[in-house]
Amino acid sequence: MKYESVIGLEVHVELNTATKMFCYSLNDPDEKHPNINICPVCMGHPGTLPMINEEAVKKVIMVGLALGGTIPESSQFDRKNYFYPDLPKGYQISQYKHPLVSGGELMLSSRTIQIERVHLEEDAGRLIHDESGGTLVDFNRAGVPLMELVTKPDLRTSIEVREFGEELQRIVRYVGASDANMEKGQMRVEVNISLRPEGAKEFGTKVEVKNINSFKFAALAAEYEMLRQREVLERGEKVVHETRGWNEFRQETFSQRSKEAAHDYRYFPEPDLPPLKFTKEFVEGLRAHIPELPRAKQKRFIEEYGIASDIATLLVHEKALADYSEEVFSEALQHEKETPEQPRKSLIRASTSLLTGEFLRLLKMTNSAPFDTRVTPENFGELVVCIVEGTVSSSAARQVLEEMFRTGDDPSDSIDRLGLRQMSNTSDLEAIVRHIVEENPTVAADYRAGKQQVAQFLVGQIMKESRGTANPKIVQELLQKLLRL
Ligand code: ADP
Ligand code: MG
Repeated sequence: MKYESVIGLEVHVELNTATKMFCYSLNDPDEKHPNINICPVCMGHPGTLPMINEEAVKKVIMVGLALGGTIPESSQFDRKNYFYPDLPKGYQISQYKHPLVSGGELMLSSRTIQIERVHLEEDAGRLIHDESGGTLVDFNRAGVPLMELVTKPDLRTSIEVREFGEELQRIVRYVGASDANMEKGQMRVEVNISLRPEGAKEFGTKVEVKNINSFKFAALAAEYEMLRQREVLERGEKVVHETRGWNEFRQETFSQRSKEAAHDYRYFPEPDLPPLKFTKEFVEGLRAHIPELPRAKQKRFIEEYGIASDIATLLVHEKALADYSEEVFSEALQHEKETPEQPRKSLIRASTSLLTGEFLRLLKMTNSAPFDTRVTPENFGELVVCIVEGTVSSSAARQVLEEMFRTGDDPSDSIDRLGLRQMSNTSDLEAIVRHIVEENPTVAADYRAGKQQVAQFLVGQIMKESRGTANPKIVQELLQKLLRL
C-alpha cells in the first residue's frame, strides 16, 4: 500500500525585546553568567505580579500580519500548569483560547501552507546536567518572550519542512522580531507527523518529535518517521501516539513518553493579567511598519533590475544586505545617465558580482553588517562604474574593494594606491604588445603558421608585464593586428 505523510509544525521563536515578557529583567540569556538577568517576578516569588511587555505583543502581531493572519479585537493570557525545575512559578503564562493571531499562511516555492495560530508565552530556564551527575539551573532565559506558531497539518514532505522553517526565519528577521539563530536556540522546531493510506480523508495517529535545533535535522527527523511509521503499519501494527526525541548522532528518533500519560495542564485565564483589547488604529499602525518581505523583494529585484533568480535569493537573504545592495544599484545607475553608453545591465551585473562575491566574503570574514563597514554604497557604486568604464578590471576590482573595506577610501584613490588603474590607452598598450611579440619570435611564427592557440601565451605575458592592468579586450585586438603583419 502507498502512504501519504501529513506534517504539522510547531515553531518557537525567542523575541529580541529589551526586557523579559512580564518583568524588567534584561532579555539576555547570557550563558556565561548564569542567574544574573533575573528578578523576583521571573523567579516567581510570592506576592509579585507580572506586567505585559508591549514590545513583545507588537512583534508577534507584526509577524502575524506579515503572514496574513487575523488579529482579534481582544486576546488573553492563560496559565498552563505543570511542574518542572526550570519553571519557577510552577506554571507557564501562555495563550490557549485567545491567541494574538489566528490563521494566516506562508508561501513556499510551490505551495502555500496554512497557519493555525500564533501566540505569545514565556520561555523556561535552562537545566545544565554537569559531569558529577548533578543538575544546575540557569534562570536567565526564564521569562524571555517566546512566540509560538502552529501550522495546520498541511505539509507533505521533508523538503517542505525545511523550506517552511527557512522562509519563516527570513520573515521574522525582516520584521525585526528575532535574530532567529537556531544554534543559539532562538528558534526551535517540533515536527508532528502521521501517515495515511494515499487517498484517505482521515488522518492517521501522529507522533510529535521535539527539541530539534536545525531545519536540516527537522527534515531528517520527518524522513526517519515516515520510514519508521510505514514499517509499523506494514507489520499490521498501530503507530503509538507519543512524543519522540531526535538523536542527532544516530540520526534517528526515539520514544520519550506516550500521550496516554499526557499532562493535563489545567489551563485557565491568567488572573494576574488583564485581557488585551486592540483597536483598528493600533493594528493598522503596526501593519504600516512591516517592511517589504523577502519573497516580494526577490520578485522585485528580478523584475526591476533583471537579476537572476538565484542571485536575487542570495541578496535578499538578509534584509540589511538587500537594502545595501539596492543603494549600490541606485548609486551605480546614476552614472547610467552620465555615460549612457554604459548599459544598465552591465552596471547591475558588475554590482551583483562584487556584492555576492568579494563583499560577502569580507562581511563573513570580519563578521560585520553591510552598513557598518567603511564602504559606503556611494563608493561601492563608483567602483562599479570604474569596472564598467574599464578603469579597473573586474578581477583587480576585488582587490580594490578589499582596500576600500580596510581604509574607507574612495575607489579612485584605492585604485591608484594599488597601481591597478587599467591601461586602456592604445599607444601605451601597443608598446607592451610589440615588445612581447618581439621577445617571442618563435611563438609569433607559430601563430602565423596557423597555431592560433599560442596567442593565449602571449596575452599571459602581456598581462604579466602590465601587472594585470592591461585591458584584455584591447590587448586581444592589438595582438591580432600585430601578428597578422
Ligand atoms: P496536540 O494537542 O497533540 O498538541 P494539536 O492539534 O495542537 O495537537 O496540533 C499540533 C500540531 O500537530 C499542529 O501543527 C497540527 O497541524 C499537527 N497535527 C495535528 N494532527 C496531525 C496529524 N494527524 N498528523 C500530523 N500532524 C498533525
Ligand atoms: Mg502541541
